[in-house]
Amino acid sequence: MHQMTLAEIARGLADKKFSSEELTKVLLARIAQLDPQLNSFISLTEELALQQAKAADVRRANGESGALLGAPIAHKDLFCTQGIRTSCGSKMLDNFKAPYDATVVARLAAAGAVTLGKTNMDEFAMGSANESSYYGAVKNPWNLEHVPGGSSGGSAAAVAARLLPAATGTDTGGSIRQPAALTNLTGLKPTYGRVSRWGMIAYASSLDQGGPLARTAEDCAIMLQGMAGFDPQDSTSIDEPVPDYSASLNSSLQGLRIGVPKEYFSAGLDPRIAELIHNSVKELAKLGAVIKEISLPNMQHAIPAYYVIAPAEASSNLSRFDGVRFGYRCEDPKDLTDLYKRSRGEGFGAEVQRRIMVGAYALSAGYYDAYYLKAQKIRRLIKNDFMAAFNEVDIILGPTTPNPAWKLGTKNDDPVAAYLEDVYTITANLAGLPGLSMPAGFVDGLPVGVQLLAPYFQEGRLLNVAHQYQLNTDWHTRTPTGF
Ligand code: GLN
Repeated sequence: MHQMTLAEIARGLADKKFSSEELTKVLLARIAQLDPQLNSFISLTEELALQQAKAADVRRANGESGALLGAPIAHKDLFCTQGIRTSCGSKMLDNFKAPYDATVVARLAAAGAVTLGKTNMDEFAMGSANESSYYGAVKNPWNLEHVPGGSSGGSAAAVAARLLPAATGTDTGGSIRQPAALTNLTGLKPTYGRVSRWGMIAYASSLDQGGPLARTAEDCAIMLQGMAGFDPQDSTSIDEPVPDYSASLNSSLQGLRIGVPKEYFSAGLDPRIAELIHNSVKELAKLGAVIKEISLPNMQHAIPAYYVIAPAEASSNLSRFDGVRFGYRCEDPKDLTDLYKRSRGEGFGAEVQRRIMVGAYALSAGYYDAYYLKAQKIRRLIKNDFMAAFNEVDIILGPTTPNPAWKLGTKNDDPVAAYLEDVYTITANLAGLPGLSMPAGFVDGLPVGVQLLAPYFQEGRLLNVAHQYQLNTDWHTRTPTGF
């Protein structure tokens, strides 16, 4: 049962082969048995799950249908869930029970999805390895000594280990696509503004975007359908109709123009990954795509620009965690200053503190022009590069990450080494474009992802290309041993 995709579950439920309650019980038992090896959940919501499953079964018995009705999922622990701990992977919010549901949570629940729990993540979504969580590191089911990627590492590990078919994630600089690549999943970061950020605890507001992690493009289409759409509560949500993502999966790729940026194949890329990416290009060419070499000349400036902008926004967003209004408060403060200092010093982990300091520095009076403003100018150049490229091609293709999953603990003393792993993913966030990662093969038994980028609001095109690729390859069907 646990091997089923969302699409298969929907068919099984419609054909009355099993009930949502039965399936939910099977998956909860599987989580209890296997998750101790992975640490992919921060909180389990068994009671809520069984209640939602029973309600979904009643709705189906009353004639309702829908791909998500009775489908078990989980939420990254930065989506607010009413009455349930929403920790953001931080000691700061260890005691925080959200007073309301995030729009994404509410929409998926209304569609009948069943919430099994809240997944582990890098603290405040800062990281690419899921090692900065207050609740401990998450392990990669493909090799328990390796990281699953981050910051949505708990969602990725849980779905990859077949503990559940799909989960939500968020992507500020790659946190959906990168863990998807490192665990053999399909992950989609939508266009900025496509999915509501209301109730999603902010890291860097101009970059953050929620999206799905699942095993197939077909399942990502189902999840995105449940998540996307205008939300008046989010001022950056865009009022643009939501297409039927499942309807366009089977369009032909004949004549589709795929651009492969020459800058992607530089010295930093593992040559074995480069070879797998070239294989995926050949596969898509067989399906009728036309391949073109393109250039993204400003790509080399993306990491420095991102690691000024993201911390700058984070330093401002995280100022609300002051030990007064909610969250962690230190013991016996001497005075107000001591309360602020110790609450923040004790509540935030090392990586979060580093980002707050970098961000506050870049925004400070003497340095704003030199760092923050400069980074914003680079951001525009990067966007312009993409706009020029999309005049020539329909899709941009490349690796999702320069290396496969690294060993736990090996990049902890060198934050810059970890930042460099984001080189292929952060440009989509800086430009606000949609991006998808899908399985493309293995290196030393560890999964490798290929990334597709498309123009604004062309999530359907990404899902279509990925689905056609998955009909003709079987990388995405491989299961990690032991799961
Ligand atoms: N690794 C990047 C960072 O640490 C991206 C994280 C994310 O997308 N949330 O900022």
